[in-house]
Amino acid sequence: MKLFDYQRAHSVQGALDAIAPQGAFLAGGTNLLDHLKLGIREVEQLVDVSRLDLTDISELPDGGVRVGALVRNSAMAAHPLIRRKYPFLSEALLAGASGQLRNMATTGGNLLQRTRCVYFQDLTTPCNKREPGTGCSAREGYGKYNAIFGTSDACVAVHPSDMCVPLAALDAVVVTASQQGERRIPFAEFHRLPGETPHLDTNLRAGELITAVEIPPLPTAARSTYRKVRERSSYAFALVSVAATLQVEGGQVKEVRLAFGGCAHKPWRAQQAEAYLTGQPATAEHFRAAAEAELAGARVGQENAFKVPMLRNTVISVLEELVQGRSAERRAGEGNA
Ligand SMILES: Cc1cc2nc3c(=O)[nH]c(=O)nc-3n(C[C@H](O)[C@H](O)[C@H](O)COP(=O)(O)OP(=O)(O)OC[C@H]3O[C@@H](n4cnc5c(N)ncnc54)[C@H](O)[C@@H]3O)c2cc1C
Ligand code: SF4
Repeated sequence: MKLFDYQRAHSVQGALDAIAPQGAFLAGGTNLLDHLKLGIREVEQLVDVSRLDLTDISELPDGGVRVGALVRNSAMAAHPLIRRKYPFLSEALLAGASGQLRNMATTGGNLLQRTRCVYFQDLTTPCNKREPGTGCSAREGYGKYNAIFGTSDACVAVHPSDMCVPLAALDAVVVTASQQGERRIPFAEFHRLPGETPHLDTNLRAGELITAVEIPPLPTAARSTYRKVRERSSYAFALVSVAATLQVEGGQVKEVRLAFGGCAHKPWRAQQAEAYLTGQPATAEHFRAAAEAELAGARVGQENAFKVPMLRNTVISVLEELVQGRSAERRAGEGNA
């Protein structure tokens, strides 16, 4: 590992003043330290922000919720406001990693965790994300986890976060601080598709610190669910995942929010499916058609073609569950300790 300077920040302004052009903020360290040890990333300096006073979860005047960037994943999952207002967010957090990791991992760090593409982690193979211009080993290689939406010839990696999938469905806002002041970034604009620049995961600027995530009020999210399909029942990343809220009136879909994980370089908001389903009867037949509307845009290879039926069936199953009124909060209580 390359030697680096280490400083602990005691205030947001102190962190902004301290950060160097080739430096990085250190929060829980569960992703960054692995990358430093593996040699995937080199920094000249770490500014430790883990002791900053950004650990509150509070209700906003409009009924939304503000989550500090240093709130641990386990604390966010257990908080009464999150469990009551956005149960699928609590469930997504509990579906991620392990208890020990969730006790270290922070909200800001989870937003910025990098792909788990095996070639990204393997310094002996070409990877445009790790080393721009070298090529993409995953396109012809091990492809089970590859993206099916929004891919480019340069990169087919998926975003690994569970937490970010319901946040995409909720239209959350990422709040940042920099020497230029505060910035509020709508969730849909925070993560990037790969295009020709897959080494850029987000639109965060150099030296910009995430201070909070704000979640708008969405009363219908009190009935919501998150389903993660994976190879083991815990401690595994998603093959596909679905976050959903559904409001039905008189048998018809009044409002639906759908986002997918394990499918794209960013948490994927299923806008085609939502547009199709709004105003339609809340039946399995229409849930299937909504999934097909989204999947029409899918691009698969030989090894990840299974994601199409897997995603379709998960969407149908999750929406049927919401019609039946079985809430995510109850499922979380049953399965994910
Ligand atoms: C074995 C294992 C299994 C896992 N399984 C899952 C899983 O199933 N689902 C899932 O979602 N996640 C999973 N994770 C990932 C885990 O959730 C992330 O590692 C964690 O959320 C990162 O948060 P952190 O606070 O440790 O970030 P760090 O490692 O400290 O930082 C990550 C990145 O974010 C930057 N950063 C951190 N905070 C800020 C800030 N406030 N402002 C600006 N930049 C910042 C850092 O500079 C760094 O680039 C797993 C991790 C491991 C090791
Ligand atoms: S999919 Fe992206 S991260 Fe994986 S090898 Fe290709 S360029 Fe690298």
